[in-house]
Amino acid sequence: RCGYVAIVGRPNVGKSTLLNKILGQKISITCRKPQTTRHQIIGVKTEGDVQAVYVDTPGLHLNKEKALNRFMNKAASSALEGVDVVVFIIDRTAWTEEEDFVLDKIKRSGIPTILAINKVDWLEDKESLLPFMQEISQKHDFVEMIPISAKTGRQVDVLEEKVESF
Ligand code: GDP
Ligand code: MG
Repeated sequence: RCGYVAIVGRPNVGKSTLLNKILGQKISITCRKPQTTRHQIIGVKTEGDVQAVYVDTPGLHLNKEKALNRFMNKAASSALEGVDVVVFIIDRTAWTEEEDFVLDKIKRSGIPTILAINKVDWLEDKESLLPFMQEISQKHDFVEMIPISAKTGRQVDVLEEKVESF
């Protein structure tokens, strides 16, 4: 069994950190500075007879004026071609217009999408998580919403299991 997984989200939400955590190695560049992942980074995880191909994408950018942004948007969009499942990753409960922009691209692709609410280790107001998730589920049609910490690895196994069931 094998499948393709795209990790998608705006810059700095933790896409590369998640890929590194899943693969157990620093395959993808992570940095505080946005735009450090300029190309697609692909990691193959093999466990028994299951092979999952994870694609870390450059963040999608709202500002299309800059040539580099346009280039990265193209790379991120083409990363969705032929993918079985998308992990749409956000930074805690911060849902900005960039999230709407990225999610619009995902919805056009029609690929089943899991929402990963990342950096929960850093969430000051943990009580806000449940109402936030309720609100999101009323607006959008994710197959699952999973709070995770790509950094500490919390619930990353739950995410992997869900992802690899596709
Ligand atoms: P990307 O642009 O989406 O690939 O984001 P990165 O993986 O490069 O991460 C951006 C920043 O967020 C880095 O400083 C990471 O260390 C930090 N980060 C990523 N995931 C987590 C997390 O789960 N918890 C915390 N506290 N920081 C995180
Ligand atoms: Mg990155």
